Amino acid sequence: MNNKPMETSELADIFTCARCGFCCQGETTVSLDQRDQERMIAALGLNREEVTVRFWRITGSVVQMQTRDGHCIFYHPDNGCTVHAGRPWRCRQWPLHPSMVTDANNYQVITDSCPGLQKGLSHEEFCKIFNALLERGDISKMRE
Ligand code: SF4
Ligand code: SF4
Repeated sequence: MNNKPMETSELADIFTCARCGFCCQGETTVSLDQRDQERMIAALGLNREEVTVRFWRITGSVVQMQTRDGHCIFYHPDNGCTVHAGRPWRCRQWPLHPSMVTDANNYQVITDSCPGLQKGLSHEEFCKIFNALLERGDISKMRE
């Protein structure tokens, strides 16, 4: 139960990344929009061609990161995300996706899989805090 007034709600009231790396696992990754691509190229200090060959998987117009050993190519078991400053916006905002509010089942599934989400909150309590952060612009700031 969170008894703080909504206007004083903070991101940490619902989420603090535990850096467990679970969301970096799998055979595919999030996709990168144009801004993500430019940011990643700048963070890596390479040119587009080098980044494309070494790190991206391009399917039609969809740009994703390559995977290795069942996880994103940038994930290191000891060091976590090795392109942290250049990671895509979907990684920056995860797991605070709007579907966490609109779909209670999705909220439960993601809360069960992500140790960074507060476990003691009802869906209703989570939504109140999430929406307060959304209105204040704190969720969209995570994408920057
Ligand atoms: S699963 Fe959650 S706690 Fe773990 S790295 Fe991803 S966002 Fe952070
Ligand atoms: S870019 Fe970083 S945060 Fe995103 S999936 Fe890859 S290792 Fe994880």
